[in-house]
Amino acid sequence: MSYDNNTMLEDIFDISEQLYKEMSDDKGGDHSKIFEHLTNLGKTLAESDRASFWKWDKHNHTLWTTAATGSDRITIPDTTGLVGKALADGKVLVTNDPYNNPYFNSEVDKKTGYVTKSILVMPVSNIKGEFIGAYQVINKLTGDGKFDEARDCKKLSLAAVICCLALESDVFLEESYTDKLTKLKNRMGFFADFNRSYNAIINDPDRNLSLFICDIDKFKRVNDTYGHNAGDEVLKHVADIMVQNTRDCDGMYRWGGEEFIMIMTDTDMKTCAEKAETLRKVIEASECVAEGNVIKHTMSFGVTQFDPAKSIEENISDADQKLYTAKESGRNRVIV
Ligand code: GH3
Ligand code: MG
Ligand code: MG
Repeated sequence: MSYDNNTMLEDIFDISEQLYKEMSDDKGGDHSKIFEHLTNLGKTLAESDRASFWKWDKHNHTLWTTAATGSDRITIPDTTGLVGKALADGKVLVTNDPYNNPYFNSEVDKKTGYVTKSILVMPVSNIKGEFIGAYQVINKLTGDGKFDEARDCKKLSLAAVICCLALESDVFLEESYTDKLTKLKNRMGFFADFNRSYNAIINDPDRNLSLFICDIDKFKRVNDTYGHNAGDEVLKHVADIMVQNTRDCDGMYRWGGEEFIMIMTDTDMKTCAEKAETLRKVIEASECVAEGNVIKHTMSFGVTQFDPAKSIEENISDADQKLYTAKESGRNRVIV
């Protein structure tokens, strides 16, 4: 069987168009379609019957893929199979006789009745030369049915470059939106969410948005008395309480230092203030155990309903003014 160059080019352009559309249409973190297109690109380029891209999670020592069965992830130990072997060796692996290859896992074929005849695994690295995963293409459809290492890697390298850039930028953005200590989204994450989700609500006259900004009272004293590590524990403790009390549709962010912002969708100021008051009481009643100390603490809150006539910064500044009033009038209170 052969596959003429024009047909292949058309197929590649179709995939790149789908990829382009998918990437400009944010799905709130669900990248399974993008993964599917990237996998199809590898499959088309290598003229193979099947393809999968395996992402290497070095932290958890696993490899995972979504492409084999749709959007569900398959996760395997990173010491497993031909993909694990190719990544461990850091080089391309080709076998045109997989059943006699000790690293090949024939269980899937036994279960499904599929016959694997040829496999090529190509490790993919980021621009720093660190491996991030690998393409696995199975059963060459053209020519003699065997993969040719040089020729097929040359073609797959196009998919490898696109795949690496897409995945790495995703990881990078995710990390830059997240506060490492509390695991909450940070200020950058707030503005990203704001532009993506909340802006639409503000511009809809039938919907409303409220927010509060809150700050731990006399937090400097916590650090001075118990040390910075204990201070960090208190921050995590507060963030956990906040998350436990946040609906899926609301957003909780570490605004900076010991300040947090909660944004509540389809919520008026009164309901938002009630939520703040609930949190204030839960935090006041809670105890954080850190480095053998039981640390009690309170928080002050400033609540505002989003005014669409004002900018995001002005709205936050309104909430901040109320937080300031809460501090001035004795702390451990909610000001609306
Ligand atoms: P107020 O009730 O007026 O808010 O008093 P405060 O002491 O909480 O406010 P101040 O702004 O004087 O101090 C905030 C402190 O928070 C100072 C800073 O060292 C500490 N801080 C900010 N970020 C962190 C952090 O990540 N970890 C720890 N341990 N401390 C932090
Ligand atoms: Mg404070
Ligand atoms: Mg502060």
